[in-house]
Amino acid sequence: MVPRPAHLLLAGLRVAVSVSVGILVVTLGYELFAWQERHAHLDDRARLVVARAEQIATDSRIALRAIKRLKTVPCSPEDLAELRIIAARTTQILDIGRLHDGKVLCDGARGIGRGTVLPPVTIRRADGGLFWPQVQLFGDPRIHVAALAQDNAIVFSRPRAASELLDDLDRAVVAGRTRAGEMIFRRSGTREMLVGAEFARSSYTGFWADHGIRRCATISDFCLAIDEPAPVSLTRASPATAAAVFAGGSALGLGAMSLAWSRNAGRRSLSRRLARAIRKDQIQVHYQPIVRLSDRKLVGFEALARWSLPSGAAIPPDTFIPIAEKDGLLPALTERVVERSIAGLAPLLAGAADIYLSVNIGVGSLFDPELPDLLDYHCLRNGIDRGRIALEITERHTSDIDRIGEAIRSLREEGYRVFLDDFGTGYSSLAYLATLPIDTIKLDKLFTRSTDSAFVSAMVLRQVSHMVAILGLNIVFEGVETEEQARSLAELTPEAVGQGWLFGRPMPANEALTYAFD
Ligand code: C2E
Ligand code: MG
Ligand code: MG
Repeated sequence: MVPRPAHLLLAGLRVAVSVSVGILVVTLGYELFAWQERHAHLDDRARLVVARAEQIATDSRIALRAIKRLKTVPCSPEDLAELRIIAARTTQILDIGRLHDGKVLCDGARGIGRGTVLPPVTIRRADGGLFWPQVQLFGDPRIHVAALAQDNAIVFSRPRAASELLDDLDRAVVAGRTRAGEMIFRRSGTREMLVGAEFARSSYTGFWADHGIRRCATISDFCLAIDEPAPVSLTRASPATAAAVFAGGSALGLGAMSLAWSRNAGRRSLSRRLARAIRKDQIQVHYQPIVRLSDRKLVGFEALARWSLPSGAAIPPDTFIPIAEKDGLLPALTERVVERSIAGLAPLLAGAADIYLSVNIGVGSLFDPELPDLLDYHCLRNGIDRGRIALEITERHTSDIDRIGEAIRSLREEGYRVFLDDFGTGYSSLAYLATLPIDTIKLDKLFTRSTDSAFVSAMVLRQVSHMVAILGLNIVFEGVETEEQARSLAELTPEAVGQGWLFGRPMPANEALTYAFD
């Protein structure tokens, strides 16, 4: 009998369906297995972190008890020697200090100090102990420690001693807190935040209530929640869709994959190295001065990220920022830059002179719900008013202008200044000026160069300056390289400020501080 087309079609369909079902069964089985493996791995990690937290708690308790038994006169040479011995007998305590009236009078490692006043306590424990997950030691912005105070003694340990055990989990979401619910740290991927007093009771309880593995210490009141979002999962799709996606997708995917693989290998390796550099805090920040054109008075610094490979080769930001943006590393990079740049200029930003620090925020980071917390945290930690921080927004892709406007508005309401960067390039257009609630625009160096070039572009510059004045915005001219340019720009907009090699190249923090204080 000759098979009819309908029979052939039916037979083909049967084969396709049975193959797809087979694949689906195998996939689901594999996913279940992978999930169990992952769960066991995270659980092991949680145990390790909790064990480390217990060790710190035990060491602190032993040290505090030993100090109570001392008969030495507080802060005398004999007393300092005893404090050093007690700390050396523990594994987690770095140093021990003596307290009086909320001030650290001396400590074993440094001897008699200047009587550093402790900041408001972050977590008040049931046994009367006062705990700071992170505090500056002797007001030195370079040294951060965790501190536990009781009676007239204070013990210091490393702030990340427990959470660092999670450093290689770059997709996990973690929260460390007390049994009573006060946050100690939280972490999302490679981004970690040690929580200050203002955030101790934050909205993160949602994560706590909903998520997977939870472990609490038995002898201290430290608890940890950890979860890792599943990768895009076939188990969430309906079986029919999953089977179809898998069967069709695997054939197509394999072909496309081998093609893309060879092209992307170079970029991916740079991306991996960048991810590592961010995780290991190897991104440096340089600062470029911004001055008033009329009298060359310093008004601010722009923070610019710098990255060098271990070989010493510097990768320009124009190469690594787009990679960070594409591969989702920008929020982590922004976090590092915010932390470093504020801490580096803290002595200047906390001082009386009204000098600001501007930080570049890509649109990806602008929508990050943690950005306001992040900025607040570092301002509070360094004692800096929000008004001393400006955020430079660059728009390299067309995206939702209403959403950008909303994010900018709420940052300005909190007191931050917002600048529109690189105006005149890309998508940063006139439409943005009228719509976005910004206070300053940074005109791209293209405009600055036009002062000494063709008549037409000089006219465009005049028009733009005029419009900016009508809208009541401030201007920063970028890329000012010559006296000539500075003079013609000052004539055009007397109150404008400029940034460029004429006033200073990007420089490390110590040079920037010398520049400002000289
Ligand atoms: P930008 O924000 O427009 O920064 C100004 C750039 O102009 C800097 O380049 C600076 O070194 C350069 N420049 C300053 N004065 C002059 C001058 O007189 N002449 C010339 N020809 N150039 C001058 P840099 O440091 O290479 O940064 C390039 C871009 O990378 C920045 O442009 C910014 O968009 C981005 N970027 C840098 N750091 C960060 C960061 O931390 N986060 C984000 N999202 N982007 C960053
Ligand atoms: Mg900028
Ligand atoms: Mg710019």
